[in-house]
Amino acid sequence: QTIPVITIDGPSGAGKGTVCRLLAQKLGWEILDSGAIYRVLALASIHHQIEPSDEDSLIPLAAHLDVQFLSTETSSKIILEGEEVTQSIRNEEVGGIASQIAALPRVREALLRRQRAFRQLPGLIADGRDMGTVVFPDAEIKVFLTASAEERANRRYLELKQKGHDVKIGDLLTEIQARDDRDTNRSVAPMVPAEDAIEVDSTSISAQEVFEQLIEVVEAKF
Ligand code: C5P
Repeated sequence: QTIPVITIDGPSGAGKGTVCRLLAQKLGWEILDSGAIYRVLALASIHHQIEPSDEDSLIPLAAHLDVQFLSTETSSKIILEGEEVTQSIRNEEVGGIASQIAALPRVREALLRRQRAFRQLPGLIADGRDMGTVVFPDAEIKVFLTASAEERANRRYLELKQKGHDVKIGDLLTEIQARDDRDTNRSVAPMVPAEDAIEVDSTSISAQEVFEQLIEVVEAKF
């Protein structure tokens, strides 16, 4: 019996995180936030003063990454080398380094087994860029969730402003476009919809509405 997986791929800010949480809650399944793994690796590379282009040093770091994902029903925590990094991996600097590191084929390879280990009963919701194409090509349901870059920059702006950060929407848009470009055009595991993915555009609908659309697909399947 195979363990069911639903993959949700797409760019940052399309609402994948929220949609995954809602699906996981509804189904009682585990979540893999694969972006967090790349972010944790990026933070570890900063701590160990390894350049984002230094593939030879990043491979062993990725293979032996001392990270724990702890989750309860109400909260989740990420621990890197004994230190809580749940919030500190979420800034733009770490995201930028993560996307540079994520373009290195052998680094991605070194993280494959760790990601696949999240596939546990009763099922997994996998959030990322290549979940449906590379990590779980046999997933039962594959979704590619997008939204326009402007709308994603706007969402990020509102989120950061609410947290009291002083940011310019134009800078966020530039960063988002640079990261999309790197993720889409890299030679290995580029961010593209799987052939059998359902494509959903969340530019003018909320994550809650995306969830409601998807739960119908899920209920028809399981
Ligand atoms: O999703 P998130 O913004 O946290 O991901 C950070 C970076 O990690 C992305 O920009 C992308 O380059 C990389 N990533 C990836 N493959 C995944 C998840 C994330 O390359 N499955």
